[in-house]
Amino acid sequence: MGTDPFEYCPYCGSGVTSMDLPTAYYCDSCEEYVFENPAANARVAVVDDDRILLVEIDDEFRIDDPPYDHDSEWMLPGGHVEVPEQPREAASRELEEETGLVADPADLELFETVYRQVVEGAHAVLSLYAVEKETAAGTLEAGADAADARFWTPTELEAADASFRELHFEPRECSDPKWWVKEAREAVTDRPS
Ligand SMILES: [Zn+2]
Repeated sequence: MGTDPFEYCPYCGSGVTSMDLPTAYYCDSCEEYVFENPAANARVAVVDDDRILLVEIDDEFRIDDPPYDHDSEWMLPGGHVEVPEQPREAASRELEEETGLVADPADLELFETVYRQVVEGAHAVLSLYAVEKETAAGTLEAGADAADARFWTPTELEAADASFRELHFEPRECSDPKWWVKEAREAVTDRPS
């Protein structure tokens, strides 16, 4: 076995058989196919001029593999879409939970959707939204799961002993904070008013 993400049926626990499709399996006990599909995830880039809002990952949630050699690690606010949320509602909820800023889901501009392998065996499709800081209400304050929340320019992030959480196996450009600022800035600027 080894690299197959599913060895056992998630419903009954019996062993499953791999199918020709790499993400499809069959459970003889349930007599059903089981599929490995990405989870829905949403993130929001709040931009203020050439700054982007990032949350500092609390130490207990930092990933040790690959090892990080920076003091702090930052990522965009976001998380899983919960039933029956729309992705933009999830983005808005996560933004408020993690940063205290409140953005109307209707004010979020979708600028990209990307697939990523989060870790071995865990997959996500992310909807990426952008919003101007001045469009959001509320007071900036790190939520329970975040150590801090603040706006950074990519240059400031580079100069500080801080790292941007790479989204593993995502398109390469997504691991560059400059890409996020550029794309988000374009999305909110092009937005019809
Ligand atoms: Zn089963």
